[in-house]
Amino acid sequence: MSPVAIHDLANMSSEARTRLLERTEADLTDTIRKVEPIIAAVRTRGDDALVELAAKFDGVTLDRTALKVSASQIAGAEKELDPEIVAAIRLSVAQVRRFHEAQMPDNLWLSEETEGALIGDRWTSIDSVACYVPRGKGFFPSSAIMTAVPAKVAGVPRVVIVTPPGPDGSADAATRFIASLIGIEDIYLCGGAQAVAAVSYGTETVPKCAKIVGPGSPWVSAARQLLSNRIDPGSPAGPSELLVYADSSVPAALAALELTVESEHGPDSSAFVVTTDRALAEAIAAAVPQFWEAMGEYRADFSRTVLNGRNGGIVLAPSIEAAFDFINDYAAEHLAVLSTLAFELLPRIRNAGEILLGPHSAIPIANFVLGPSHVLPTGGRANTASPLGVFDFMKRSSIAYLSQAAYQRLAPAARTFAQYEGFMAHANSVSEIRDRILSNSSPF
Ligand code: NAD
Repeated sequence: MSPVAIHDLANMSSEARTRLLERTEADLTDTIRKVEPIIAAVRTRGDDALVELAAKFDGVTLDRTALKVSASQIAGAEKELDPEIVAAIRLSVAQVRRFHEAQMPDNLWLSEETEGALIGDRWTSIDSVACYVPRGKGFFPSSAIMTAVPAKVAGVPRVVIVTPPGPDGSADAATRFIASLIGIEDIYLCGGAQAVAAVSYGTETVPKCAKIVGPGSPWVSAARQLLSNRIDPGSPAGPSELLVYADSSVPAALAALELTVESEHGPDSSAFVVTTDRALAEAIAAAVPQFWEAMGEYRADFSRTVLNGRNGGIVLAPSIEAAFDFINDYAAEHLAVLSTLAFELLPRIRNAGEILLGPHSAIPIANFVLGPSHVLPTGGRANTASPLGVFDFMKRSSIAYLSQAAYQRLAPAARTFAQYEGFMAHANSVSEIRDRILSNSSPF
């Protein structure tokens, strides 16, 4: 039997197709139940609870003063790193900054669509944000870049990083170096649900923030759901997921190689190749194991679990329409189109967080150094949500100015609405009462 599952859509019940579209994180009920006491502990006991939970879940002994990474640890981080990773981080920060600067909307636009009435929008940043940088099944300093750089470009005055402590009781050196490079002074050593609770309520050390962004484990996602009335939980970015569309214009081994990319994140990841070509499907399945050998046992095991289960493998579609119906219903975080006809296929795609076209648009380049944020909607939310960008750190206010003439022209219709809806103060506000006040006479 092939170690990579082949799911044949032509011979599948609609229930089985629906199951194939589900993600591992679909049901957080059990996790939510388990994080409730964690949240309660942080709310009532603040820093003391963070110290206890770091010992329990991260296996490190911290004292309260160690919850905040010191300025000297941030300033000294570069010296702990190899020059190659320092250069890669510098390149990534510059690219991500450039992309998000280009994405910035005009601060203010006003237009006179109606004579005498100026109407438009003004964008302002939110006041504070916590960037969650995961550190469980690996560490993800790139997530610090992909969240904190757009936040800085958007002009957020207070950007903090929350991340689980490593075995040595500190934040990883790359995350600290990134903070020094982009001007972040606040890194707090807490992870999982306790980190979300800390920035939602504030503790003696960790500041309360307006929003939390970034990828995370189900513990993080569950806490965000539970605390969404205390903090803007941002778009959840859960376990990584990838669809690859492949046809016979590219080598089977390339599709197999890409299939291993997101499946190495963890057993909760999802990764499928979608194709209409049975011979290609079989060739891809046969090509995957050679890449497992080169991955190291820890990550290869994750990939094997994903690709041989319900959340991975090869989806064989009976037609190109069926292939793209599946792709759009799935609404993947990453979608790679491995075809020399990638641009011709683009109009068929409606739902995907990131669309990578052609054989050279490699997922890791997009994940690490291209410019767009790798924090993308997961769990099928790419059907309504977008990649993280400067807009996630800003909000719009609509702006209006009316001349006297425009006021007089629009007031009667507004008064009619107000009377119809039974709001007499609204009606009075656009009646001759306003005219009398403005001409300095008694309102009544
Ligand atoms: P994490 O930091 O999100 O989770 C680790 C933390 O979870 C620990 O510090 C601990 O506090 C908590 N925890 C662990 N076991 C617990 C338990 N039994 N009870 C309560 N809390 C517990 O790191 P992770 O686990 O590596 O997860 C990161 C996730 O982010 C992965 O699923 C990865 O695929 C995903 N990811 C997504 C993107 C994206 O853009 N969507 C990018 C990078 C990573």
